Amino acid sequence: MARSEILKGSDEGEIFERVFAGHSSINSFQASLINWFELEGESYPWRETTDPYPILVSELMLQQTQISTVLGKGYFRRWLEQFPTWEALAEAEELDLLKAWEGLGYYNRARNLQKTARVILNEYNGTFPREHDQILALPGVGPYTAGAVLSFAFNQRAPIVDGNVTRVLARLFGINEAVDSSAVIRFFWKSAEAMTPDSKVREYNSAIMELGQRVCIRSSPKCGECPVNGHCVALREGTVDTIPMKKKRAKTVLREEFVGIGVKNGRIFLTTEEGSRRLGLWRLPELTADQADDLAELFRFDYAITKYKVCLRCFVLSPALIGDLDAPGQGDWYSLQALDSLPPMGSPYLKVIRKYQNLHDELNLSS
Ligand code: SF4
Repeated sequence: MARSEILKGSDEGEIFERVFAGHSSINSFQASLINWFELEGESYPWRETTDPYPILVSELMLQQTQISTVLGKGYFRRWLEQFPTWEALAEAEELDLLKAWEGLGYYNRARNLQKTARVILNEYNGTFPREHDQILALPGVGPYTAGAVLSFAFNQRAPIVDGNVTRVLARLFGINEAVDSSAVIRFFWKSAEAMTPDSKVREYNSAIMELGQRVCIRSSPKCGECPVNGHCVALREGTVDTIPMKKKRAKTVLREEFVGIGVKNGRIFLTTEEGSRRLGLWRLPELTADQADDLAELFRFDYAITKYKVCLRCFVLSPALIGDLDAPGQGDWYSLQALDSLPPMGSPYLKVIRKYQNLHDELNLSS
């Protein structure tokens, strides 16, 4: 079946044909997008290589994180300096992995990269596989990441649909319903499959993602600069500002979390996290509300995680509670003079420690 026929004869086919009446229309869309990208596309380190290793690292880092953080804060560069090859990554200590990922959150991404490195070495003799199903079977790799690696590393024809592409397709086709419904997601993948060219796939996939990042942005998209504005249904129908629509989000849940700051001889007490998702990470000791009631609150701040808005309240531990921390198996003491040497931990706790240290320095407290 020809690619432009994939959606034919269905409601989806009609929606598709509002934008693309035939092959020549798809060809002109592809050509406009690729041409724009070749003239104006950004240069990122992972676009300067066809090595699947740094490409996969960048894709996993960027799954939940902005490019400005991954590049601007040096995560991508440091990771490749510390673990330059599959071998180096496969042999790394988990503590070092988590430390290199510290601040990016969703630490399973780092663990999955290491599991993938071990699969590549043990099952593929060190050579990254090229088959879609093999790549899809790697730890932490979903359809988007598989398509990204296939197209960016091997220039193989593979559709990709991420958040940016979803926004572009929703407006392009004028989809006036929730883009996170399974029917719409399926339509986007089928459409992406039909729209992806046979050649210059690397450029095309980079282009459609970048269009979503820089031009077809969430608020006030720059339709005047858009290379495919002649195809866009939302622009034609004046619905750009209301698309994409999403299903109603779960309500934000407010929570309070109490943590204790226990400092002795310039060292702070840390304990290990519980639960499989946070295994290997460290944290400040948690207090119950009753314990916190008897202590002095030093400061508090809010942070958000999934559907929770957490008020993190920080208390100075009493000498008696600090004494209890020395019981075996509770945790360990770490120097406040060497914050870079602290074990890996979630950003909120690191922020508490930095804040405490600044306060301590300002007030010239002794501990
Ligand atoms: S014309 Fe505007 S809304 Fe349509 S794809 Fe381009 S930037 Fe997005």
